[in-house]
Formats: sequence, structure tokens, C-alpha cells
Amino acid sequence: MLVTSITNAELLLIVLLLLQSLFGLLWLGAARLRLARRPAQHWAAMAWLVAGGLTLILLRGRAPQWLSVGAGNGLVLAAFVTLRRGIQRFARLPTSDREYGLLMAIGVSSTLGMAFANLSPLAAVLLAAAAMAWTLLRGAGEIRDALATEFGRTAASWCALPMAMLAALFLVRAGVALVSPAGFQSYLQQPGGGGVAAAFVALVIALLVQANLIAMVLLRLVRRLQYRSDHDMLTGLLSRRPMEQMLLAESQRQRHFGQSFALLSIDIDHFKKINDGCGHAAGDAVLKRVAEALRDAARDSDSVARMGGEEFCVLLPGTEAAGANTGALRLLETVRDLHHPEIGGKPVTISIGMAVMEAPAEPIQALQRRLDQALYAAKAAGRDRIERAAPAASAPRTPSMPEDADRADTAVAA
Ligand code: GH3
Ligand code: MG
Ligand code: MG
Repeated sequence: MLVTSITNAELLLIVLLLLQSLFGLLWLGAARLRLARRPAQHWAAMAWLVAGGLTLILLRGRAPQWLSVGAGNGLVLAAFVTLRRGIQRFARLPTSDREYGLLMAIGVSSTLGMAFANLSPLAAVLLAAAAMAWTLLRGAGEIRDALATEFGRTAASWCALPMAMLAALFLVRAGVALVSPAGFQSYLQQPGGGGVAAAFVALVIALLVQANLIAMVLLRLVRRLQYRSDHDMLTGLLSRRPMEQMLLAESQRQRHFGQSFALLSIDIDHFKKINDGCGHAAGDAVLKRVAEALRDAARDSDSVARMGGEEFCVLLPGTEAAGANTGALRLLETVRDLHHPEIGGKPVTISIGMAVMEAPAEPIQALQRRLDQALYAAKAAGRDRIERAAPAASAPRTPSMPEDADRADTAVAA
């Protein structure tokens, strides 16, 4: 009997209710798995508040209006406040708890107003719709601005869109109520919560909001995993694999466009002594400081990687021998000038092997061999210095830097 009396609109709202209950469980699971734990807890609460609000809205025409309209809207408003608070936690923004207090006071007082003070359902709906649209639009703006740096402007704007659409839905609802108050009043008394179209739009937008929240969490997870796989955890520098990929890309650019690039191989001098004399923790602190100094002293267009242990690599795109020499010298001096309290202020030095990839292109392995030899030469020659690699076997000598080439010859011989 009950089933036959369900309208299509009611059916859609029941589907939405069940889906929201499931989303509540899903977010609770995510929180348990520590996937955006605090935001996920908020979004679980949000989903169940929506489910509660929908249950009351479905009682329209069967329960007193203060309950179906007043409290129903109040719960949905509470859901949106919780949604936005979760978003603020996700975006690491301060939460607007005072504003939320005010919004909830609107929800509670309009319900009480309907129950005890003859507040018209129309006024209650308008108040709730305005409060919902306000908090949803603010939330959408917060997503767009706060997540732009993390996800990029375009992705952040897409993430903000479903909430803005939801705000628009409630503004349209308020607009309809204002344009045709009598019609809206009678619609509020009908079971089923209004037309199929409205229920369908609500269902689609609610699903979009949920999909959007899931996408935000997954996007952050993927970015984090990507970052972890590309960066060294101790120093925060790039790790070996992305550096090798960049090197490959740079050598292809050189092959196609003839743009030369330079590569520096850097090794901290006598690092084992630091570990042995002052402990591994002191060694780690020195490593971090040297890495930070290398990153700061390199140009923005250069890439600095930790290749393993106390060895680093710097890629200098579009750089010829003279520029690479200047850059390497700057790194050498910057590291030499660092102060290391963990090892009693003793200076730490580095040795640098430097190679320039010039036309015609040579295989990367050959370039790396020349670079290794240059670094060994710098170590053999007494450390705390730069040695330029011998020219590639097939590459013509660079007439612009005859002194450097001479120096490299002696370095490799040493
Ligand atoms: P050289 O001047 O010839 O380069 O001598 P070295 O002592 O720097 O070179 P060696 O290769 O003998 O020693 C490197 C040391 O770096 C040995 C290893 O225990 C230490 N090491 C590698 N990775 C780490 C790390 O992550 N933290 C610390 N504290 N030490 C590390
Ligand atoms: Mg070393
Ligand atoms: Mg080493």
C-alpha cells in the first residue's frame, strides 16, 4: 500500500537518501584508513545529515510542517556547514566556527519559529535557502583559491564547480518561492517534496559533490605518492630516477635543437669522517644543510638531485662551459661557507666534476663516464675543487674555452 503511494520524486529522494548513507560509510572508512582523516569525518557526518534531512523532507504532508520543512531544511543546512568545515580542514584553512554558529542559529530558530511562533514555511525555506547558498558559495570560493597552488587553477576551479551549482540550485528554489509564494506554499504541503525534475537535479548535483570530494582526496593522494617517488625524503631534493629522466629529455632537446647543457656531479669530501667522528645524526644534518644550500645557490632553471649517499647532481639546461664553471664555483663557495654547529663548526667541502654536452650529441652513458672521471680527478687533485671533464671523443673542442680544456686534460690524467 505504502509502496504504491510513492511518487517518482519520492523515489528519487529515497535513492539519494540511500546513496548518502552509503557515502557516509565510505567516508568513515576513508577516515579509518587515515585518508584525509578529519575532512573525511566531516564528510561522513555531512552525508548522514543530508540523509536525515531527506528523511524529514520525505515526511512532507504526513508530519507537521515544522518537522518536515523546518527541521528538514535545518538538517540540510547543518550538512552544508559540515561539508564546508571539512573542506576548510582539507585545504588547511582556519574554520569559520563563529559564522557556522550564526548559520545554525538561523536553522534552529526558523524551525522553532515554525513550531511555536507561526513563522510561515515560506519564510523558513527562504531563510534556510539563503544560508545554504551563502555557505556553499563561500566553500566553493575557498576550494578554488586554497587548492589552486596544490592542484593548479583549472583543477581547483573544477573542484569548486559542484558546490557552486548546489548554491545555484538553492538560489533558484528561493527565487521560485519569491516569484510564486502561493504555489510554493502548496508545494510544501504535498508529499514527495515537489517535482521529479527538482529531485533529479538534486540527485545529480549531490552525486557530483560527492564525486568531487573523492576526486580531491585521490588527487592529493596521487600527488603525494608522486612526490615521494620523485624526491629524496631526507633532503627533499629530486631523487635519481627523475634526474635521469630529465637528463634524457635534455639530451633529446640537444639532439633536436642543438642546445647544449651542463651537468655537475658533486660529492661531499671526507663525509665518512663526519659520520664516524660526530655520529650519523650529525651527518644527516650536514647532508640536509648542504642539499639546501645547493638548491638555493642553483639557478631556478637548474635541477638539483641527490643521487645517493653524499652525492648530488646538478643539471644546467642551456648552459655552456663558461656558465657552468661560474655556477659550479658558486656552489663550491656556498657550501664551503656553511656553518655546521653539529660538527663543532668545522667546514665541509665538496668536489665537483663538470661536463658539458655539446653537439654532436653523445650517448648519456658516455657523458656520465666523462663526468665520473672528472669527479675522481677532483678528488685525486686534493678535493674542494672543480674539474672539467675531457671533451667527448667525437665532439670538437670548444675554441672559446681553451684554458678549461687544457685544465680538463691534466685533471683526467691526474
Ligand atoms: P671522499 O672525500 O672520497 O668522497 O670520501 P667520503 O668519506 O666522503 O666517501 P665515502 O664514499 O667513503 O663515504 C661516504 C659516506 O656517506 C659513507 C656512508 O655511510 C655515508 N652516508 C651515505 N648515505 C648517508 C646518509 O643518508 N646519512 C648519513 N649520515 N651518512 C650517509
Ligand atoms: Mg664523499
Ligand atoms: Mg661518495
